[in-house]
Amino acid sequence: MSIDFIKSIYYELISYFVPQRITYRIEGECRKCGRCCRQIHAYGLKNQKELKFMQYIFPWYKRFFITGIDENGELILSCIYLGEDGLCSVYKKRPFVCKNYPAKKISFNAEMIDGCGFKIVKKEFKEYLKN
Ligand code: SF4
Ligand code: SF4
Repeated sequence: MSIDFIKSIYYELISYFVPQRITYRIEGECRKCGRCCRQIHAYGLKNQKELKFMQYIFPWYKRFFITGIDENGELILSCIYLGEDGLCSVYKKRPFVCKNYPAKKISFNAEMIDGCGFKIVKKEFKEYLKN
């Protein structure tokens, strides 16, 4: 098992229990293109075996299948529940991670997928002071 894979399990676990460390302001709106369900960059997952392991620990991962590998050698996943119309076919029963997307608070740097209607704006220190 690679260090990145172990890290990915660690990040997955702390995402449930640890207060998030980076806060963003999210601007824009969803264009319902479905790209975020079709081009999911799986941080730290590099092969089928590692995905299977994640599916075993986190059963909701079973909806994902591999469609490619990104420039960092990490898996690109797609979801079996994405309809041809680009919409989620289990919208009311989608997992928390989907409901929460795009998350405003996460524990590592993030970018929106190309073509997404949302934009991430890192909060300035002054904005934190206002709160
Ligand atoms: S990629 Fe962005 S615009 Fe497209 S469906 Fe996902 S959130 Fe909406
Ligand atoms: S469950 Fe629905 S919202 Fe979540 S990744 Fe699959 S298609 Fe997208």
